[in-house]
Amino acid sequence: MLEKGHFKTDSDKVTSWIQSYFDRLSTFPVKSAARPGEIMNKLKRSDMSLPVTLEELLEEFDKHILPGMTHWQHPNFHAYFPANSSIESLLAEFITAAMGAQCMIWETSPAAAEMEEFILNYLKPHLGIPGDWEGVIQDTASTATLAAIITAREVATSFKSNWDGVPGNLRVYASSETHSSIEKAVGIAGIGRSNFLKIGVDESGAMDVEQLRLAIESDKKNGLQPCCVVATVGTTGTVAVDSVRDIGLICQKHGIWLHVDAAFAGTALLLDDYKWMISGIDMADSFVFNPHKWMFTNFDCSVYYVKSSEQLISTFDILPEYLRTASRGQVKDYRDWGIPLGRRFRALKLWFVLRIMGIDNIKKKLEAHIALAEGLAERISRIPGLEITTDPFLNFFSFAVKPDVVGGMENANRMTEMLKDQLNDSSLVFLSHTKLGDRYILRMVVGQTYITKATVERTFDAISDTWHNILSHR
Ligand SMILES: *Cc1c(COP(=O)(O)O)cnc(C)c1O
Repeated sequence: MLEKGHFKTDSDKVTSWIQSYFDRLSTFPVKSAARPGEIMNKLKRSDMSLPVTLEELLEEFDKHILPGMTHWQHPNFHAYFPANSSIESLLAEFITAAMGAQCMIWETSPAAAEMEEFILNYLKPHLGIPGDWEGVIQDTASTATLAAIITAREVATSFKSNWDGVPGNLRVYASSETHSSIEKAVGIAGIGRSNFLKIGVDESGAMDVEQLRLAIESDKKNGLQPCCVVATVGTTGTVAVDSVRDIGLICQKHGIWLHVDAAFAGTALLLDDYKWMISGIDMADSFVFNPHKWMFTNFDCSVYYVKSSEQLISTFDILPEYLRTASRGQVKDYRDWGIPLGRRFRALKLWFVLRIMGIDNIKKKLEAHIALAEGLAERISRIPGLEITTDPFLNFFSFAVKPDVVGGMENANRMTEMLKDQLNDSSLVFLSHTKLGDRYILRMVVGQTYITKATVERTFDAISDTWHNILSHR
């Protein structure tokens, strides 16, 4: 067993491991090549009844577990969305874990509650969130969206559903490109997934607002009750942006809750050039973005803003005797602002990131990522046989094999998939794909904390070499 008095000595071993991890990071295969059950079999070989030393465990970890990890902080990780960590954030996590405080109400750690309020207020003007909105940190965007939909449900049913159960006629709307967490939340909220309507999108992947208007009007005619619309700012497939203003006008007219899901793209709101993405936000009721994606704050840290904290609290507060305190009413008891009771001190890592990096340096890093993505897209567009299928936007673009040079779309799709598989198997980079209509496309995200011009060069070379190799073997 480890002793509190020897923390420095023991943690030095772990921090040395982390330093060596960072030093080796860009030499690891980006995506783990582990086969199903492989790591489990290794774990089963150890005698769990026999305690080991920290050194022995770190050695075991390095040998058996590390090969089973995909390296999300690897600069050639270009899949999904970034899940950025930073030294600032990781050091704050040391302290959060050491203190192990439960930040459910103000009294259980006043500084945690006040720092959370302070940081989220600080971020509001930088993001373009209205000054009178209030924020709370949630674990994930999925949880924040669930909180939004449950609050919308309560507002739509005059706060009766929590007591009486949910009527079967509530309706929730989002685009067909929206994140899967929306449909999941509609189900969990008791509204019923059959009452979730996916609205069509235009060619950019943004919601067709006219279709939304017609769906709402038709539902109302049929005795159904529109309850919530979710606008996606930065879709998962192609980072398309729904028009918050146009959707907001419809929601206002019909008295429908508007939730804005900017989980990934929200970080870009820090840059003035991208504030248009949420113009009309004053017509919305809630907004979520994930600092744990592009804002250098390691998972989990999701920022949720609401226009009316009163509606949020009326939905979630429940006051057992053992949590009654004298300060209630004067301070923020964040357990009433969401689903879980227990809460970690997540504001601390945001504070570390914002204080040590500084907001201007964060903005510079975002701008650098955007420029690197644009440069990489430009170079890939000049590789014969490949083309850009989604123009660069933020740190994202997509590309695929050109159908006309390989004899049609079917061949292009097959070869694009082959390109992805060979790239990922090469261990040099990790890319993910999506479908754009019938087209198989490769998503490219250039937003890792440790990305540089040189690492992007490596990514370009890998794509270029792999593609030429495929062509020469046709
Ligand atoms: C990533 C993402 C989510 C899910 O975020 P979690 O924090 O993992 O729940 C939801 N919506 C959008 C648009 C996303 O990009």
